Formats: sequence, C-alpha cells, structure tokens
Amino acid sequence: MKPLASLSLDLDNEWSYLKTHGDVQWETLPSYLDVIVPRALDLLASLDLTITFFIVGQDAALERNHDAIAALARAGHEIGNHSFSHEPWMQRYSEEQVRDEFARTEEALEALTGVVPVGFRGPGFSLSPTVLSVLSERGYIYDGSTFPTIVGPVARAFYFRTSKLDAQQREERADLFGGASDALRPLSPYRWDVGTDGIIEIPVTTIPGFRVPFHVSYLLYLAGRSPAIARSYFRTGLALCRAARVAPSILLHPLDLLGGDDVQSLSFFPGMAMSGKEKRELVSGFLTLLADRFEICTMGEHAASLAGTTLPMVAPGSRRPSSRLSKHGGAKHGLVGNRR
Ligand SMILES: [Zn+2]
Repeated sequence: MKPLASLSLDLDNEWSYLKTHGDVQWETLPSYLDVIVPRALDLLASLDLTITFFIVGQDAALERNHDAIAALARAGHEIGNHSFSHEPWMQRYSEEQVRDEFARTEEALEALTGVVPVGFRGPGFSLSPTVLSVLSERGYIYDGSTFPTIVGPVARAFYFRTSKLDAQQREERADLFGGASDALRPLSPYRWDVGTDGIIEIPVTTIPGFRVPFHVSYLLYLAGRSPAIARSYFRTGLALCRAARVAPSILLHPLDLLGGDDVQSLSFFPGMAMSGKEKRELVSGFLTLLADRFEICTMGEHAASLAGTTLPMVAPGSRRPSSRLSKHGGAKHGLVGNRR
C-alpha cells in the first residue's frame, strides 16, 4: 500500500488577496468563486481525488457564494475553517476576537453545508497560542497553519515590494509568511499541548533537509521557466519525503487554477502570465505524480491516521518539541472529516 499524503486548497478569494495587498477595491468583496470552484471540482473529479477546502467565513456568509461553496461539500470534499475575515495578522487578535472569528465562520459553514469544521488553517499561516487554545476549546482536531521554511521572509519582501502598503499596514503584516525561525519548526506532525486532547499539527510540507517549499504555487513558478525542471523538483521533493518518512501535506491555491486571462485584478501575482488552461494542465500533471507515489487523502483523514499514535508534544508559542510525548488520542480523535 502507498503511504499517505494529504492535499488541501485554501479558498482565498479575490477580495482577500486585494486586502492583504492593501488595495481598497477589496471592500466590495469581489469574488471569483463561481469560476474557480467548477474548475477545481472538474480537475479533482478527473483525478478521482477528495481533498480539504479551507473556506473563509465571510464568503460562506454571502449568498452570492452559496452555490459554489455548497457544491464543494456536495462533492464530498472536507470543509475546513480559514478564518472569517482572512486577516494575516490574526495572531495579534485578542481571545475574544478569535472566538468571534471562529463562531461566525462555523455558523456560516454549518448553515450552508450542514457541517462544522474540525480543521483550521490561519490566513497567511498566522497562528498564536490564543488561536490554539480557542481551537481546543471549540473541539477542533487539527491545525494546518505552520510552514516550516527558510523562504518566509523572502516571500514577504516580495509581497511588500509589489504592494502599496503604508507603514501601519506593513506593521500589521510584519509576520506574513512567518519569520526565519519558522524554519526550525518540526516538519512531521506533532501535537500542540493545549486542553485535554491537544491539537494535531499537520505542517505544510517543505522539502526535508532543505526546508524549501514545493507546494503547487512554487511548482508553477518554476514551470514558468521550465515545466521539466518543475516536475523533477517535485519528484525529488517527494522522494526525499519518502526517504525521511514524512507524509507530505501539499497545498493548492485558487490562482494555481486561474490565469491572467481569468482575473485581471491580480496580475501582480507571480505566475499570472500563464493562462488558466496552461496552469490546469500543469497542475493535473503534478497531482498525477503525487497520486502515483502516495495515497491522497483529506487533512481530516491525515489527522485521523495519526490519532492513535504517539506524537511529539509542542508547547504553544514554542517552535521545538518538549521531551514529553503525547499519550492521548482517544475516541474524539477517531473522527474523520466534519462534525454534523
Ligand atoms: Zn488564505
């Protein structure tokens, strides 16, 4: 049997990118969900894959997005929480703000899909001890907000260079994509030492040993230069995961399936010179490479596979495991996917 790999898509909307970028147009909440969702569903159906979609509460709360989001749940994909307001400075929120953010997102998702999420990914990989304790208090099982890489500060510098942010906006986004010390975070899953059961952390996988990203946006960036190099980079990363016994958790974004011909307002993003069709063909190829080597599952299934196992424990706010190993993993962690 092939080893497991989880696959997820952060359903960032047009407005959330404009907001992080400091573009006031975001306030009218422009949406491309009607375009991206059918494309994502077609691609996943053609490869026979079921994945996790992390959804922004603000989108679920707006009627014009209801058909698109409900279609994801109907197709059997797991629905995760990607915050309500998609503010990459969520780690600065007070406990009350975090609770409010979660309550509104869960309410909107439950009303629309009939399920309450058990997994969370913070916008721009934002995470804090407060967020972790609220996740535990609200019965979440896993988090996917860490990105153990050396390139976070480089990605942030690129973002700042291409945006029109003032000093205060830059200050708010000071932790966007994480700091250099995030490269020290564990690459394999562990358990955050919060509450009684803890929260399983499934990091976004970077290449073992090198800590460089290889999720799909990076592969497409490489493919802009040479599709053959992008494929061999991905194959090498996956081989190193197998050698290091790391079950990869691979990330997709809407702009991996949309080209410059689909969304003109986001031309500042890397890779937008490619057409949507070109990107979808490349992504289909990357996912086929992944499926040839690994059994692709949702993040909820990945978390459930770890539930009975002993994982290293990490204290919230720390980047290194403590000497304690987790012993729990009872009935609650047997849950797969969404709560009803
Ligand atoms: Zn996001």
